[in-house]
Order: sequence, then C-alpha cells, then structure tokens
Amino acid sequence: MVLICDCGKQATIKTSWTNRNPGRRFYCCPSYGFIGWTDPPMCCRAVAVILGLLRARNELEKEVEEQLRLMREKDQRIKKLNKFLIFSWPGSFFSLPLSCFRLEVGM
Ligand SMILES: [Zn+2]
Repeated sequence: MVLICDCGKQATIKTSWTNRNPGRRFYCCPSYGFIGWTDPPMCCRAVAVILGLLRARNELEKEVEEQLRLMREKDQRIKKLNKFLIFSWPGSFFSLPLSCFRLEVGM
C-alpha cells in the first residue's frame, strides 16, 4: 500500500528500534518523519522478549568485533615476524661463507 504524506511526498515504511516500540513498523515521510504506525501495538511481554534478544545480539556483535580486532592484531604480528624471518635467514646463510672468506684473506 502506498501512502502519500500531506506534503505530497510518498511515505516509506521503516522499523522502530526504540525501547517502547522495538521492531514495530511505521510510515515515514522523507521530510517530516513519523506519520503513523503500520503495525498494531505489541503486548508488554513481546516488547520485553524483543529487547532482551536485541541486547543479546548487540553483546554478541561487540564480542565478534573484539575477536576480529584481536585476529587482525595477531595477523599483523605474524606478518612482521614473517618479514623478520625472510630478511634474517639469508643473512645468516651468507654470513657463513663470508666468515670463511675473511679467514682465507686473513691468512
Ligand atoms: Zn511529508
């Protein structure tokens, strides 16, 4: 169903995520905002359950973000260690023949 606002613009349907009306849809004018509800009001129990689920989801999202941040840090450390290994290994490989050469020259 298309709803036209008093200002002449077409309203869109949005979803409220406030504590009073979590998950309840409403008509919204692009210029003036809230026009009216599309969904009937929810019972207190439904509101409490939805809010509890939202809080749990938000906590899980924070935990996932923290774990991703830690993984990125560890990945950076591994990349630095790999660079260190790549540059340090040939140095130790070539240092042996060079030390032999010095010995020969020194004789
Ligand atoms: Zn309007």
